[in-house]
Amino acid sequence: MEVIPQTEVRTSSQTKAQKLKTIITFTLVPRLWLGMLLPFTLLSCTQTNSSRNTPKADGKPLVVATSTIIADLAQDVGKDEIKLTGILKPGTDPHVYEPRPEDSRFLEEANLILYNGYNLEPGLIKIMKATGGKARQVAVGEVVKPLQLDKGKGEIVPDPHVWGNAENARAMVNVIRDALIELSPEDKEKFTQNATQLTKELQQLDSWIKQEIATIPPDKRKLVTTHDAFQYYGRGYGIAIAGTLIGISTEEQPSAQTVQRLVESVKKIGVPAIFAETTINPALITTVAQEAGVKLAPRQLYSDSIGASGSEGDSYIKMMEANTRTIVEALGGKYTPFQPQK
Ligand SMILES: [Zn+2]
Repeated sequence: MEVIPQTEVRTSSQTKAQKLKTIITFTLVPRLWLGMLLPFTLLSCTQTNSSRNTPKADGKPLVVATSTIIADLAQDVGKDEIKLTGILKPGTDPHVYEPRPEDSRFLEEANLILYNGYNLEPGLIKIMKATGGKARQVAVGEVVKPLQLDKGKGEIVPDPHVWGNAENARAMVNVIRDALIELSPEDKEKFTQNATQLTKELQQLDSWIKQEIATIPPDKRKLVTTHDAFQYYGRGYGIAIAGTLIGISTEEQPSAQTVQRLVESVKKIGVPAIFAETTINPALITTVAQEAGVKLAPRQLYSDSIGASGSEGDSYIKMMEANTRTIVEALGGKYTPFQPQK
């Protein structure tokens, strides 16, 4: 009598593990293949894109930004006085981005390069260091004292997702302002004015997020996401990072065991919903939600990139607002739209 249930349990857990393994294989491996194929696909589109993206010497300094978040903040500070090229396109994952041939050219021709740093964009940092162009290279995100995260096996690395706290974004705006002033001193007044305006909005955003998160019942202020990109957000706004499928870089691939552990922990912590992210395939986190019997939040979080133009997260401020709304609504808080006083 006792043997039969044990056998059944073992069989069913093996099936579950196999099922997860299949899902991992089919959701993550194709990404690797895509990564290998993509450069060729993009090469064929290069000619049409490059005429639009190629920096031209029209008198304005050429500024190149790596991540979409840095590019958005730089555009807000530089406005019409700079010619900005953002290398990463909205929705692109910076951790695994493979630079294209024209990226090297942008970096070589730039008068100033603004990048996140703390190894957010390893592919781009590598070619940036190798090109040795004339431009000053500024690691904008490294103005923030980093959280140190354990990557496992005793490897401690700085967490690059510093923009998760709007206070940190303010510090980043100051770095961008100063770098632009050094690049083009005659526009000092405009850059200073633009940065002051943006800083005012960021201060209001910061207070608004705090108020919004405070509407979530205290025992539900727990965030479970796909990759570990929300530590700064969590600490800044009073919401615990209760679990992630993978660490701070999306290069990692979770094992079936990791997935199963997250399922168990989601069941225990009792959150009503967990979250997918716009830059990562949602299949695995969807499985976790199903297995744990919780909802997958109907809206995805913008983690490492702003949204495509026209989407609700198509600027840094809008992405932070959209994320906060997504979290507040899914965890039982009361969402009130952000209305900054200009
Ligand atoms: Zn990330």
